[in-house]
Amino acid sequence: MHTSVLELAQRLIGCDTTNPPGGEGHCLPLVGEILERAGFTVRVDAYGPNRASLCARLAPGDDRPALCLAGHIDTVPPGGAPWSVNPFGGEVRDGRLYGRGACDMKGGLAAAVCAAAAVAPELPRGRDLVVHVYGGEETGCEGSAHLVRDAALLGRPGAAVVAEPSNNRPLVGHKGALWLKGRATGRTAHGSMPEHGDNALCKALDAAQRLRTLELGPAHAELGAPTLALTTLHAGMNVNSIPDAAEFTVDLRTVPGRDNAALLRAAQALAGPDVPLEVLMDLAPVWTAPDHPWVRRVRELLSGPLGPLPEVETVQFFTDAASLRAVLPDLPILVLGPGDPAQAHQTDESCSVAQLEQAVDLYTIIARDWYGREETSC
Ligand SMILES: [Zn+2]
Repeated sequence: MHTSVLELAQRLIGCDTTNPPGGEGHCLPLVGEILERAGFTVRVDAYGPNRASLCARLAPGDDRPALCLAGHIDTVPPGGAPWSVNPFGGEVRDGRLYGRGACDMKGGLAAAVCAAAAVAPELPRGRDLVVHVYGGEETGCEGSAHLVRDAALLGRPGAAVVAEPSNNRPLVGHKGALWLKGRATGRTAHGSMPEHGDNALCKALDAAQRLRTLELGPAHAELGAPTLALTTLHAGMNVNSIPDAAEFTVDLRTVPGRDNAALLRAAQALAGPDVPLEVLMDLAPVWTAPDHPWVRRVRELLSGPLGPLPEVETVQFFTDAASLRAVLPDLPILVLGPGDPAQAHQTDESCSVAQLEQAVDLYTIIARDWYGREETSC
């Protein structure tokens, strides 16, 4: 039975996958059943209690390059401010779908699943089309990072579209992220006799100060300059004791040209041996050259429905594309999906229904072209 993109997006919004805790497992059958009916082989990739992602492949044995449509099913919490609609109601008002995830990104996910199900019967027999539905994106892409490590689930993507909100424009990259926690320890003592203690807060402050001088490497022409921000600091229990423990966190946003591993080594050297740095999250930057033949081709195809497109567009936030990039350094990846990125994580989050429907058309165009083109060149 045919499911419309709006219906599916509404059902996904109605299935609470607020992360934390996530609980994506109970929601994955909503997409798994549609894809199975369309002929896909569906596998669930569990990575924790009720934490899971899904991989659907049309022809798992095919080793020719496939198109991969990807997105995440978890959302951030509704937030503290009251909503004017039920965040899990999927209400449509004035041509817009409301609810947590309408824009980021149950809308885009619904569009990708509907497009995959629609084009599946048209594809040349034996050709694989891959759909990835990740859990755990909002807390650092742990679902996609887990899934891509399994070769059978990763498949053989030759190009990928990550359906995050972009107002349906094809974006070629975003910064990476490296989140670090520094930890200093010492020995407590009475505040009147600091010489009897070993002040962990002072060690943490000194290390953090040195980290602020970290050489981040050159700016990227399109993604901009890499950045470092000191974001939290916790130490001490009371005003008259020397703190024996201190922690701080650093949020680094990285660009191609200096990889995260090199930055981590340099950061640890600056922090010094007394302040070990723990990696909280490590996501590669994502960049696909705008003159890559597939990117040029997609831009050309989409300039019909979308009108003339600028040469290069990028986005600020990170996406699951980072996990794909980590295992497939040469894979061309576009971030392209319905919804205004500014709506992501907002109270009263919404997405234009027209953009949802357009996204199905755009993914369909991209898929038909991928397999049509492959057939004629093979
Ligand atoms: Zn997202």
